Amino acid sequence: MSLSILDAARETPDRIGLVIDGASYSYAALAERTRAALGWLHAKGISRDASLALVGTLRLETIVLLYALLEQGTPAVLVHPRLTGPERASLLEDARATLFVEDAAAEAWSAADPVLARGADAIEAHRTLAILYTSGTSGRAKGAMLSRGAFLAAARASERNLGWQPDDRWLLCMPLAHVGGLSIVVRSLLARSCVVVQAGFEPEAIARVIERDRVTLVSFVPTMLKKMLDRGWPCPPHLRAILLGGAPASESLLEASKARGLPVLTTYGLTEACSQVTTQQRGTEPSFACGAGEPLEGAEVRIDGGEILVRGPMLMSGYFPKDAHPDPFLPGGWFRTGDLGTMDAQGRLHVLARRGDLIITGGENVYPVEVESALERIEGIREACVFSLPDETWGAIVVAALVAVDAQLTDAELSSRFQERLAPHKRPRRIAWLSGLARGAQDKLDRSRTAALATPRLQ
Ligand code: AMP
Ligand code: MG
Repeated sequence: MSLSILDAARETPDRIGLVIDGASYSYAALAERTRAALGWLHAKGISRDASLALVGTLRLETIVLLYALLEQGTPAVLVHPRLTGPERASLLEDARATLFVEDAAAEAWSAADPVLARGADAIEAHRTLAILYTSGTSGRAKGAMLSRGAFLAAARASERNLGWQPDDRWLLCMPLAHVGGLSIVVRSLLARSCVVVQAGFEPEAIARVIERDRVTLVSFVPTMLKKMLDRGWPCPPHLRAILLGGAPASESLLEASKARGLPVLTTYGLTEACSQVTTQQRGTEPSFACGAGEPLEGAEVRIDGGEILVRGPMLMSGYFPKDAHPDPFLPGGWFRTGDLGTMDAQGRLHVLARRGDLIITGGENVYPVEVESALERIEGIREACVFSLPDETWGAIVVAALVAVDAQLTDAELSSRFQERLAPHKRPRRIAWLSGLARGAQDKLDRSRTAALATPRLQ
């Protein structure tokens, strides 16, 4: 296993490494383009000790530029394509990259002379492979420095979980600025397998690509899977795993997946841990009782005061720049995730809430995700977002923003449904109907933006 596209081309020149925009590229063809990109980097003076910021669009040229950076060991700062101008400016100021490439496709690589690479094997594991900005719904986004060693450890753990096969084809549909997206490129390179790119998340197009390009592995966040199921997606037999993570999966989604025989594996991960930390074991059926599965090889998980702590070689080296951030690790190297959870007797992790989302009402803990799951099971409710409002008597009260399937349920209908399904302290005291919930990166529910939309209607 090496992170070198040139090695890969020597070992498996004819194997298809990338399918994008309807074209297939062999490892030999990718290596040839990478040599040109290396020549271009050389001409620009971007050495191993520089760093390069690039917008992580799902384009051939962006992926080739990444291969080139991996080959020579230059850190990549990935910029999300959907950032606004000011957000991008603030990220670039924070990251202090030597060069910023806004549109890799616009760079004239073919004019550059290819150079001889030094050999990716010689690059030390502690060197930063990428700086990724965490979605951080609270506060300013922080750049997590992920080393080559962290990616290698995460890849090995994934390999043990999924059992990589040389004819695997991994669908890439999320931006490279997400650890989930970048990991697919890195893992597939290590495995000398194939990445199938489909930019954007349009369920019909995704279903078509999975079928046509014989995709075997996908990573979805729950909203994506729900959209697929809502459209009656016939999951083809060659798809052998659907990694489902990034946000809580509801009980009804897992039940629907099980009923349809989908090879769903729930997983919990985060940018700071180079993606997956825990994952359901391959070959087990989707079920809510599995939670987010067991710690992957090399990962340790501990619950401290309700908070999930993680330790292992896949962790980031720190936030960038190191001197501008307090040490994010506890003694012993444990990372505080900011998520609340429990471990069950079988050693499986159950994620309950982000620490800041926990609602304490009249002294009782209420986990918004649990209430949202219950609400989404009510006929007539398509989506729910639960949060709290301050209250003099209770400290906080539970409220909900709801999206109706068709007609809105009446207040009387709602309160009788709540009574059937939720203990009194978990029942929303006020409701706002919205036409949709606010979602952020990767379609994750943005609880605070949804709350801001709904709050004026809750008074
Ligand atoms: P990010 O901040 O983009 O790195 O996303 C990581 C965060 O997503 C975690 O800290 C969790 O809050 C959330 N998350 C990831 N996987 C799960 C899961 N299986 N269940 C609940 N929340 C999750
Ligand atoms: Mg985060």
